[in-house]
Amino acid sequence: MTTAALDVLERTFGYPAFRGQQAEIVDHVVTGGDALVLMPTGGGKSLCYQVPALVREGTGVVISPLIALMQDQVDALTAVGARAGFLNSTQTSAERSAVERAFLAGELDLLYLAPERLGTPSAVELLDRGMVALFAIDEAHCVAQWGHDFRPDYLRLSVLHERWPDVPRVALTATATDATRREIVERLDLGEARQFVSSFDRPNITYRIEPKSSPVQQLIQLIRTEHDGDAGIAYCLSRASVEKTAAALVAAGIPALPYHAGLDAGVRAANQSRFLREDGIVMVATIAFGMGIDKPDVRFVAHLDLPKSVEGYYQETGRAGRDGLPSTAWLAYGLQDVVQQRRMIEGSDGDLAHRRNLSAHLDAMLALCETIECRRVRLLAYFGQESTACGNCDTCLSPPQSWDGTVAAQKLLSTVVRLERERNQRFGAGHHIDILLGRSNDRVVKGRHDQLSTWGIGTELSDAEWRGVVRQLLAQGLLAVQGEYGTLAVTDAAADVLGGRREVHLRTEVARPGRTRAARKA
Ligand code: ADP
Ligand code: ZN
Repeated sequence: MTTAALDVLERTFGYPAFRGQQAEIVDHVVTGGDALVLMPTGGGKSLCYQVPALVREGTGVVISPLIALMQDQVDALTAVGARAGFLNSTQTSAERSAVERAFLAGELDLLYLAPERLGTPSAVELLDRGMVALFAIDEAHCVAQWGHDFRPDYLRLSVLHERWPDVPRVALTATATDATRREIVERLDLGEARQFVSSFDRPNITYRIEPKSSPVQQLIQLIRTEHDGDAGIAYCLSRASVEKTAAALVAAGIPALPYHAGLDAGVRAANQSRFLREDGIVMVATIAFGMGIDKPDVRFVAHLDLPKSVEGYYQETGRAGRDGLPSTAWLAYGLQDVVQQRRMIEGSDGDLAHRRNLSAHLDAMLALCETIECRRVRLLAYFGQESTACGNCDTCLSPPQSWDGTVAAQKLLSTVVRLERERNQRFGAGHHIDILLGRSNDRVVKGRHDQLSTWGIGTELSDAEWRGVVRQLLAQGLLAVQGEYGTLAVTDAAADVLGGRREVHLRTEVARPGRTRAARKA
């Protein structure tokens, strides 16, 4: 380790030692090497380019998609005595000129740059005229076209290597699936770069995934029983549910603030800064919130809707417990999530390959939700890391029971098959369950569905339990949902179940069939 780097670490940042692979990475970059750094959120990626930028001659140019956070990042650096500035579209031209002058005069240690600026000739010229110590490409997974966070402007970053071949580049991300890593290497031309892969385990986070009944009440319960007074983030899919959830928390006496892209920029900034500076605030947000947020004591991250991918889930939950203290990642997930997301995928722009890719992401997320194995083992395996049962997730702490759901699956699937024969009709999960439970209504009468052989053959399970069966069959690929109304359809794989050649094991959730009714009456 160069003494210069240790010096900067101590004197400027006030830390006595590097953490994990930081020392190696810093060493490599200081001596002019290219690096790809894969480190979980909270792992300490920033120092991996900030220290080399201060050690090397010239300015470290940081490409970051986090325009909203540039001011904060620059303020934090300025506070420790580093000389930093940023260039993005939110500035006046006078502000931009001042930063450009400082850069050209060699008065900046770090310059944050929005990726779209690299598309402008003036920015390229500017960098040509100044002295660049290194390029740091933050959130490098944004270059992955099929990833969960694609930013088209990131494709421009290949220009860095072409135009400035001698300037070292360090690309950093917390998303580490093989596919994403390969895409980063290819698109940023980092084939020669050394790869630094840290462990992705976040041992202090307890992972929990529960069936969703009334998510807001479930969240309030979680906060009251386990996280009273703690800071947390609650993610919702839509702006409307963000507003509704935040209001419900406030009504329940829990200090909560909303955050989504539909809010006025001033309100967003104010809410974000209150969350960062005050204690015990719950930020209710869409996924627009959180990237780059460095608040060490977030004690829980709750998802009230199913994330679209394991990568997204992992990044979002990773915002909990950066300080290393025990924290909770809690997700409530239900049948409606699956139906809704399949519908969104079907209705999304883009070609078949793109929709398949979205579907594969969703399937991996569903598999994580329905697993009866250790959540962490599954999660880490997804990122290519082997591990053993963690003892700190819901399935480890209270191993789920599974039950032989073959007969239940056959009953449901054969109902689906029967209704599929009706052309031009669309029946969602609710209608199938009505038939299995023998519940009459207008649609049943009109379609003469009380004449079906599966009418009323499913009374051993409750409505909620049937919804769980539908959900799990969807996750296991035995059922599919189609179209705007969430029409159920059987898949090819279902034939083996209907033919008695394949058993189906289901995760026990509410209560086990058989003792259900008695237990509920008691
Ligand atoms: P990432 O970008 O990987 O999510 P950060 O760079 O924001 O992580 O670092 C996370 C937290 O860890 C920050 O509060 C940072 O100050 C702290 N940190 C990073 N490296 C060290 C270190 N060597 N010693 C002490 N604290 C560190
Ligand atoms: Zn576990």
